[in-house]
Amino acid sequence: MEKIINKHFCVQPFINVTTRITGYHNVCCNTSFKDSNIKKHTSYDFFNSDKVKKMRNDLLNGKRLADCRVCQYQEKIGHHSHRQKYNEYYYIKNEQSSDYYKNIVEKLHINTLQRPLYVDIHIGNLCNLKCLTCNEKDSSMFHAENKILGISEAPNTDYTKFVIDTADAIKEIIHPKLLFLDVRGGETLMVPEIKKVLSTIPNDIAKNITLKIQTNGTTFPDKTWVSIFKKFKNTKVNVSMDAYENDNTYIRYPSNWQKILNTIEYLEQQNIKFIINTVVSNLNILKLDKLLNWIKEKKYLNYFYMLDTPSHYRPTNLPKQVLELAGKRLSNISKDFANKDMAKAIDQLIDICYNTNDFNIKNWQIFCKEIRMRDKHRKNNIINILPELERFLIK
Ligand code: SF4
Repeated sequence: MEKIINKHFCVQPFINVTTRITGYHNVCCNTSFKDSNIKKHTSYDFFNSDKVKKMRNDLLNGKRLADCRVCQYQEKIGHHSHRQKYNEYYYIKNEQSSDYYKNIVEKLHINTLQRPLYVDIHIGNLCNLKCLTCNEKDSSMFHAENKILGISEAPNTDYTKFVIDTADAIKEIIHPKLLFLDVRGGETLMVPEIKKVLSTIPNDIAKNITLKIQTNGTTFPDKTWVSIFKKFKNTKVNVSMDAYENDNTYIRYPSNWQKILNTIEYLEQQNIKFIINTVVSNLNILKLDKLLNWIKEKKYLNYFYMLDTPSHYRPTNLPKQVLELAGKRLSNISKDFANKDMAKAIDQLIDICYNTNDFNIKNWQIFCKEIRMRDKHRKNNIINILPELERFLIK
């Protein structure tokens, strides 16, 4: 009898808790649960809740879950999804039978965990940038701009107030079996509470944990940060860069390219592992070749992922001719990157450029309207960065 392939199994709900700036607990960075909040429930409560237990059971049995629509979208357009990447990270094969997954969760002892092995917690939205594809919950600058433009979804909310709750929560989260801790702002290196909380984690516990830090690269890590990085078993600093030089400044506004280079050089000198992290959107897909060639020349490790929300910034929200031009430029990159996975990732991206038919005029109108509004406010002009779009932009 032919085996039924389970195309939906994901390891994340078995091992991870992601707590967002709003305090809501989630099983990963791609779900949007709003029923368990750090103000009332610990990550431990959420991890052992009926909802998460049911989700694990459904995924083991190959059910397609509405909560996992972001990964499903990524897979639909031919991109390697978060689900597939997470499974591979733990050496779990994708697209196997449900029996394979039932066996493997038992073998790895992740079916009976009481506490998550991986915790991803967002503390405060204090940030010095307002990247175009960001949102007000993740950047205080973006929030301030939205308030000035009259488009804030929560003008009276102070997202920094979650700092107190989450800082306390970290103490509850740290346990001797924790393997990964991913702490974020805003701009993580700017948030004093994050530094304070990480400083207080005892060395004998930190030495078992891999710390993951996300930075926009414009905040220079001082000596305290370096000593925090060095006390953990491993530290991985993800430096966000979406384009090269001035193109990056336009997208990750108003970042300073030289400051980012200074940070990277310093991390190298201090022997701290870093990886360049790029969000692929319709703002940078035409420019990606330039950034990727620079990364390759420098022999830096890097990875990229496709933006899903806001949907008007999706890389596929571009007229067909423009997307094909992006594909042509990407095809000219030679693929000898430090990260061997890049060759496959670029090929998938090229395939998406030539073969995805996702263009939606409504989303394009939203994109044009938003870009014009922010350009006017920032005294920028997208045409200076992307002249290829001039004839397509709707006034
Ligand atoms: S399939 Fe995707 S959305 Fe669902 S739990 Fe896994 S990573 Fe999260």
